[in-house]
Amino acid sequence: LKTINSIKYIIYNTHELTDFVKRFITLTNTNIISYENSTELETIIQKLKPEISSKEVIIFTKFKGRLFQVCPGSPKMICCNLRLVNTGFNCLYNCTYCYLQSYLNSYGIQLFSNMDDVYKELLLFLEGSDKKTIYRIGSGEFTDSLMIDEITGVGKRFIEITANHHNIMFELKTKSNQINHLLHIKNKGNTVLGWSVNTPFNIKHYESGSSDLTERLQAAQLAAESGYFISFHFDPIIIHDNYFDEYSKVIHEIFSYIPKGKIAWISLGTVRYPEQFLAVMKNNFVNEKISDEEFLPGMDGKLRYQWSVRAKIYNHIKKTIHAISPETYIYMCMEDLRMWEYVFGLSFESSEELEIHFSNSMKNFIKKI
Ligand code: SF4
Repeated sequence: LKTINSIKYIIYNTHELTDFVKRFITLTNTNIISYENSTELETIIQKLKPEISSKEVIIFTKFKGRLFQVCPGSPKMICCNLRLVNTGFNCLYNCTYCYLQSYLNSYGIQLFSNMDDVYKELLLFLEGSDKKTIYRIGSGEFTDSLMIDEITGVGKRFIEITANHHNIMFELKTKSNQINHLLHIKNKGNTVLGWSVNTPFNIKHYESGSSDLTERLQAAQLAAESGYFISFHFDPIIIHDNYFDEYSKVIHEIFSYIPKGKIAWISLGTVRYPEQFLAVMKNNFVNEKISDEEFLPGMDGKLRYQWSVRAKIYNHIKKTIHAISPETYIYMCMEDLRMWEYVFGLSFESSEELEIHFSNSMKNFIKKI
């Protein structure tokens, strides 16, 4: 597993030396560089680029974009309306299918020097939120929530902010096992620690630098024992030899580590990407086999496996999970109405309907605990 120790350079703006940034500039074994303005930053980047990998550099910038938003989802698809807090861009790991590779100009792992603004936005949302609705909020969309969280302290802060809001389930999503620093927190509220899971084959071939499946499940077990809710994300599901059986084995392993009642939700999503991403992925990972399968454009323009191929694997995973734990909440990420009807027998007209369904299910889930 790659950790903070693989970071060779930390670059920060001298005018934005916030407490958050200060946590990093005292790190030993790392080169610390400061910059005054964007021109100077660009010069530093151009110097480092030929020799230092993007994944070995942390760059602090003031983020001026959207710090808090509803997940943009995908047009014409049913989405779960997860709320996202942006905390950074890029991560330590090197997933073959990571769409962040398509942002060609980006270099380094970007963290936001103005994290206090993120916390303020989150607080504003909490104050105005409908107390009768359960909102899911997550921070792992453009980075890995826990890869260096023991240093950033971001996870702990999110938990502190949301723990007393009973209508909030804050999810920290990861491919790591870096959770020890969160175990002792007393008031965990409805916090969910979430793991992306995949078959050992896919983790080995396509999720370089991350924890293996056993490490993820051992961490999830510790988290569950310490009082967190747990989630799992079969996303992206990738076809390989014997993948039906391999995904079944992962499901059985999950339930051998985690008590059913602790699992808040499990999501499913087959691999998908915009057409222009294909060339980027093939160029960066010449031995990848993901793109060998047949892909077709969906209603949102993204390439996916054929509808019937997706339907079969979703159905298989759903049935395997529900045979062990009929009450576990399962949802699909970015799938169409017809798929929802076929796999779950549910006919949602819109993403809002799924959001309500999800919220009501979570009310029951929390009540039972
Ligand atoms: S963990 Fe997520 S952000 Fe990091 S490389 Fe993999 S897909 Fe990209």
